[in-house]
Formats: sequence, C-alpha cells, structure tokens
Amino acid sequence: MSATQVVTRLRSIVEATGGVVREHEPMARHTTFGIGGPADVYARVHDRDALRRVVQVGADAGLPRFILGSGSNILVGDGGIRGIVIENKANAVGDAEPDGDQVRLHAEAGASFAGLARATARQGLRGLEWAAGIPGTLGGAVVYNAGAYGGCLADVLISIDTFATGGDDQRLDATALGLAYRSSEFTRGQLGDRIITDLDFALELGDADAALGRIAELEERRKMSAPRGRNAGSIFKNPAADAADGHPAWWLIDQVGLRGHRVGGAQISEKHTNYFLNVGPRGDEASARDVVALIDLARLRVREQFGVDLQREVTYVGEQGGGEPA
Ligand SMILES: Cc1cc2nc3c(=O)[nH]c(=O)nc-3n(C[C@H](O)[C@H](O)[C@H](O)COP(=O)(O)OP(=O)(O)OC[C@H]3O[C@@H](n4cnc5c(N)ncnc54)[C@H](O)[C@@H]3O)c2cc1C
Repeated sequence: MSATQVVTRLRSIVEATGGVVREHEPMARHTTFGIGGPADVYARVHDRDALRRVVQVGADAGLPRFILGSGSNILVGDGGIRGIVIENKANAVGDAEPDGDQVRLHAEAGASFAGLARATARQGLRGLEWAAGIPGTLGGAVVYNAGAYGGCLADVLISIDTFATGGDDQRLDATALGLAYRSSEFTRGQLGDRIITDLDFALELGDADAALGRIAELEERRKMSAPRGRNAGSIFKNPAADAADGHPAWWLIDQVGLRGHRVGGAQISEKHTNYFLNVGPRGDEASARDVVALIDLARLRVREQFGVDLQREVTYVGEQGGGEPA
C-alpha cells in the first residue's frame, strides 16, 4: 500500500468521528515540551473502534506505530517519528457503580487523568485526589504507574483492557502489570506491543468537600515547587532509597552545579532542578538535541561526583535527526 493509499484509508476511518489525519505533522505540536520533528503520518482518533482500525491499517501496510497519549512524558527526536503516530482521544468515562463498600469506575484510556481525579472528587469519591495535578491520559498513567504525594495508579487500578495487532484482546489484572515506581511491564517491554483501551478503578465513597479540599492543598504544594514553561515533568526518577543516601534527583543535580544551566534553548529550571525547560520568548527554542545534551551532562556529573546512575523517567521517541535514534 502506498503512503497516499494509507492516508486515504485512515481518513475514511477517522474523519467520520471527528478525527484527523495529517502527513509530516510536527510532533512539537503534540508534546508538552513543544519539541519534536515530524511524524510521517499522524492520526487522531476519538473512539475505540477507530483506534483498532487505524492500528490494523498501519500493520497491514507494514508501518511502525507509536501510540500517543498527551505527550507529557516523552522527548521526540528532531528527526521525528517514522510510520504512524496515533493520538488516542477515546475518553469516555462511565458512571460510578457500587461494589461492596467501594465503587467501581470504568474509563477509556484517552481520558485525562487530572480531569478524572477532579470529576470523581466532585462526586464525593476518594482515591484519586493526588492525581489532579498530573497531566496526561489514563493510558500513559498505566505505562508509568503515574503517582504523586504518596499515591500512585496501582493503589486504585483493578484491571485494564488491551489489544495487540491482529485483534488479540486481553483483560489484564493490575497485579499482572508489574506496576512499580514510574514503571510497568510496558516500560520494561513485556507488554510493549499492547495498546490500552480501557481501565477499571476501585474508589472509596467519601465526602466531596474533603476530596476537593485535599486537591486544593496539593495544588498549592505543586505550585510552590513546579516551574512554569514547557517541560515534561521530572526528567529523572529519584534514585532508590539506599542510593545517594536517599537524596532525590533534583538535589543531586543541584549539588553538581547545574541549577539554571543552559544548552541551546534548553535549560535546567532555576526553581526545580529535575525539570528541564524549553525556553525562549515563545517557549519553542530548544531542539531535542539540546535537551539530550543537558540530560547527558547531568547524568555524567552526578555519576562522577556521587557514583549514582540517574535513570530517565522521560522516554525518548523517534529519531534524533539524520536517522540516529533519539
Ligand atoms: C508539568 C508536568 C508534571 C508532571 N507531574 C507528574 C507527576 O506528578 N507524577 C507522574 O507520575 N508524572 C508526572 N508527569 C509526567 C506525565 O504526566 C505522566 O507520565 C503521564 O502519565 C504521561 O501520560 P501521557 O498520556 O502524556 O503519555 P505520553 O507521554 O503521550 O506517552 C508516554 C508513553 O505511554 C505510551 N502510551 C500512552 N497511551 C497509551 C495507550 N493507550 N496504550 C499503550 N501505550 C500508551 C506511549 O506510547 C509512550 O510510550 C508530569 C508531566 C508534566 C509535563
């Protein structure tokens, strides 16, 4: 199938449900960093059926694919992404159903994690208050077991629905996902070929005022520590408690003298040294190469001074430029 035929087929699938298909789409438009070269083909889908069909067309054409949530934890290379990028906007959220002394909630993987946290708090459901400041979709939250302020997805997730190319549907229990600190069988590659379509949660019945109060309190804390500007949240995971005497990544980066350090259009935040920013008048000056250079520098200095090997939380995607991997 030629590229034109692929695009024509994709359009016939997604446009009826409000999706779009574009060629040579700059990924900088679809990442919170505002960085990233072009995707060969970009398709935005708004329902589960279109998602499956688009994946199948890509597979039939032998094209690589990348599933995009909100692009809030990725650094896309300046050379862009070969094949099809599929942005999953299938985001329906079901009604809360009583389940013993808890409630059960079903949502599609393209739903906003922060949006769901706020909506459930307003309904007086407890369990997701810590997630109200985390950007991204539920699909991305599964991949990294997203978490904050002592909570993480594993605390409330019951199961996920997934499929792989060819339609092999599987419901997977949360216990089968290897959810750990900012990682899962998805990040470890065991489930890397599977696409998450739906999630089931168990939440507690509670009081809306208390839940919304907790969100406001955590929002205030986040405002105090998080910098403004285009970024992808924490660049590195915090080292394990027994490494670096329990010091977090931001402290190590600060100690090696990199607070505010700049390479090209990328800068380590003055406010929070585990946040790297795309700076410049419009927040769009950095290349992926600039960010990678800053990441490499921080890792090198921390390894030399503390003997600690910082692990990236942010995922590199696509090509750096000139065909090199990012
Ligand atoms: C300002 C800021 C603050 C942040 N704060 C936090 C925080 O407090 N805690 C935290 O944990 N994270 C935080 N993050 C990181 C980020 O928000 C989370 O990692 C989030 O869960 C990523 O979701 P996403 O939809 O943006 O994923 P993307 O970045 O779009 O994708 C990430 C990975 O998930 C895969 N993926 C996405 N959807 C699916 C799917 N349906 N099926 C299979 N694979 C899929 C992608 O292919 C990719 O490999 C922050 C980011 C920013 C920008």
